[in-house]
Amino acid sequence: MNQLLKGIVCLTSFVLMTGFSQQPEKHDRSYYEARKEVVWEVPMDDKLIALTFDDGPNANTTPQILDLLKQYDAKATFFVVGNRMDKYAEIIKREALEGHEVANHTYNHVFFTRRIGKSVIANEIIDTQKKITELTGQHTKWFRPPGGYYNDTVINVARENGYTVIMWSWHQDTQDWNTPGVDRIVNKVLKNARNGDIILMHDNVNGSTQTVRALERILPALYDQGYRLVTITELMEHKTKVDNPFVPE
Ligand SMILES: [Zn+2]
Repeated sequence: MNQLLKGIVCLTSFVLMTGFSQQPEKHDRSYYEARKEVVWEVPMDDKLIALTFDDGPNANTTPQILDLLKQYDAKATFFVVGNRMDKYAEIIKREALEGHEVANHTYNHVFFTRRIGKSVIANEIIDTQKKITELTGQHTKWFRPPGGYYNDTVINVARENGYTVIMWSWHQDTQDWNTPGVDRIVNKVLKNARNGDIILMHDNVNGSTQTVRALERILPALYDQGYRLVTITELMEHKTKVDNPFVPE
């Protein structure tokens, strides 16, 4: 029995030391939040909220979302997929021109669920950044890994390339990618809205317009409640300004 136990301990050490395990290194939320390496939300006293839209652009829904945002004087952040940008270059340009932020969601929408080489992750980020800069002149600092799959390597590669990883408020995960129905999306956002929230939505969901229909109700309701809808950069800068009132700009 003792021998068996020793064998198991030995094998476990071998697996850990050689990296034989396919599970990448990952810590819990508080670890990354304390180090300011990953952001889930930006709690604050002021009524600011950041809407984020992933996976686009989409020829049908993204322009409708842009129309609605304009109508309510709302700004948002679009986490775009690099390989969709050439086809929908005009939509990307419109996002930037209308004051929204175009941010990085990898080139091929890769789920970093297993150990992946640093160069693969870096290329996914850098290739997308090149496209964003080419089309908008912007250089984003925000990276959202597809499916929310992050680990130490993903975070470190993002940091080495000048990015902070942006997740979303756990109480603001609308699951709109799964077409749960317009009411559910609306209720998720409105019943949970808090200052500094980062709301997760998708402007590119296969054939679905639920996100657009939900926004038609969410935007006026948040507006009536006194919220200002801002980009991730505005949300972060506002927090910095409030926390450091005497720092010259
Ligand atoms: Zn995505």
